[in-house]
Order: sequence, then C-alpha cells, then structure tokens
Amino acid sequence: MNPRRPPNPYRLRRAHRHQLSASPTPTDVAMMRTALDLARTAADAGEVPVGAIVYETATGKVLAQAANTRANAREPHGHAEFLAIRDACNAIGDWRLNHCTLVVTLEPCIMCAGLIINARVGRLVYSADDLKAGAVCSLYRLLEDPRLNHRLAPIRGVLAQESSELLRDFFRARRRTAQRG
Ligand SMILES: [Zn+2]
Repeated sequence: MNPRRPPNPYRLRRAHRHQLSASPTPTDVAMMRTALDLARTAADAGEVPVGAIVYETATGKVLAQAANTRANAREPHGHAEFLAIRDACNAIGDWRLNHCTLVVTLEPCIMCAGLIINARVGRLVYSADDLKAGAVCSLYRLLEDPRLNHRLAPIRGVLAQESSELLRDFFRARRRTAQRG
C-alpha cells in the first residue's frame, strides 16, 4: 500500500456480529444500483455523490428517489436520504414509513438518522460506511438506541466497493481542482 495515499474513509468494514443474519433482498440490491446511478448524476452536478430511494417493502414500488443537492440548493439538509424520505411522505400523504425500505449509498448522518427515526422507516439498507459522520454504525448507533421509541437493524455494505470508490474519486478530483485553482 502506498503510504502517501490517504485512507479512504468511505468503506465497508467487517459487519458486526449481530448484523450478519440480516442480508439484502434482490430488490434491495437492484434499488442500490439505481441509487448509485443517482449518486453519479449528483457527482456530475458537483454534488457529493450520494443517492437514495424509498420503496414499499412488500411491493417494491418506488415512492421517491433523490440525490444530494446541498451545494447547488445551498441547503444543509440537501442529503439524498433526507429528500427521499420527505418526498415519499408527500407521495403517500403520511409521515409514517413503517412499511417502507430506505436504500442509500452512504451511511446516514445524525440529521438523516434522526429523520429515519421520526419517519418510522421500516428498513434501512446502505452501502458504504461513513467513518467521518456516520450515525448508524461508525460514530453513533442511533437506530439501535434502546432509549428511543423506534429502532431498526440496518443492512450495511451493499455494493460498498462501488459507492466508496465513487466518493473517493469525487473528493480526489475536487482536491486536485482546488490545488490547481
Ligand atoms: Zn444526512
């Protein structure tokens, strides 16, 4: 390994023992592929490449999909999964998403994990861990906190290699641009 190469903070870590039983369904994986496409679209627009989808767990019907918009919209809540949850609630006219699965290409942050809890999202499937801001496994484990009234066991690491490389390449290119400027 090249010692000068900075570590990639977006990666798949060894699954925690109690999560090994939870594995993604074929629908989860297909949705993650679409979410990665959304993430690539975000990168093309100069956004951090993260994509998210909310779908009805039983039927596979997509209720909302989104990519990061924070930079262009100049909004701190412009995270893909935040927007997808909001749009899914609007689509069904309810604030509860117990019957839904959220698929997102990066581990949710504190804000988004809070929204997942408040929206009572039924399942969470995510791709790469976020060692710098993740609030599901990396820095905090908000979704498994017994003091809160809604809990869920996340499914992690789905297509994580693809997602972490996308993020790493995006930030690498941005650093290069910054150095040139
Ligand atoms: Zn977030």
